Amino acid sequence: MELIDTHSHIYEPEFDEDREAAVARAIENGVSTMLLPAIDPASDERMFALCRRHPECCLPMMGLHPTSVNDNPTWRSDLQRVEGFLIRPPQGISRFYGVGEIGLDFYWSDRFVEEQTEAFVRQLRLAARFDLPAVIHTRAAWSRMAEIIETETARARAGGYRLRGIFHAFSEDLQMYERLRSCGEFLFGIGGVVTFRKSRLADTVREMALDDLVLETDCPYLTPAPHRGERNEPAYLRFVCQKIAEVKGLPAGEVASATTANARRLFLGGGERRMQTGSAGFQDPCGETQAVPEREKR
Ligand SMILES: [Zn+2]
Repeated sequence: MELIDTHSHIYEPEFDEDREAAVARAIENGVSTMLLPAIDPASDERMFALCRRHPECCLPMMGLHPTSVNDNPTWRSDLQRVEGFLIRPPQGISRFYGVGEIGLDFYWSDRFVEEQTEAFVRQLRLAARFDLPAVIHTRAAWSRMAEIIETETARARAGGYRLRGIFHAFSEDLQMYERLRSCGEFLFGIGGVVTFRKSRLADTVREMALDDLVLETDCPYLTPAPHRGERNEPAYLRFVCQKIAEVKGLPAGEVASATTANARRLFLGGGERRMQTGSAGFQDPCGETQAVPEREKR
């Protein structure tokens, strides 16, 4: 059984004591590949170091997390740094596999709606321009995020580009699922929350198409049962896989192979255009440096 953890913060300090052992446990438990979402410049170096050590199984993304925009006077230059790394990855990193994690998070504060929206839109346009999947974090902002995705998907299409990616930690209802899935090439990241007894996510997942799902831990957070209360780690991804299999009445192996194929298609099937284009003379019909449209502001 091969699993792909599409969202792992295994480079975070919570793993400083046993990171190598955690990678080994992941592999022992069937996790062949871990996608690592970036958060901010302060944590990037830790992520790069891990990816240099394990280039075969730890694949980096590049992006600025929405909460890293809050109260951050340098967020605009941080975005330029993101773009710079997408054009030219740091030494020892062959490429980035996604633009993430990016998105909207109004849970902690709603004072940065405009800044987060601009950062999100600009990074979505980077994802389209580099033909990379966008890994989208959403908290207390689902309908606003959906609105932006609808607008930006249409905009990318009109410019001859495609916008695709993952709705990370999807936890909404079937109505939101249908709305988001109609945007096109997006998958839904399912993690430990599906095992929580109080969550209704399992009921939603039962109705979702297997072809739309990818597995993720979001470790060290959102630990699945039976390990709730402990630090999460990629080795626990199998509990998420088993739970999805249980609610759908399928063999775990079938959920594993489908979600692994979905993740592989998204992260490893694209990117050719970017690989061929390089940085020189790149045409940018997406115009990601333009201001955010008026309707995005409030
Ligand atoms: Zn994350």
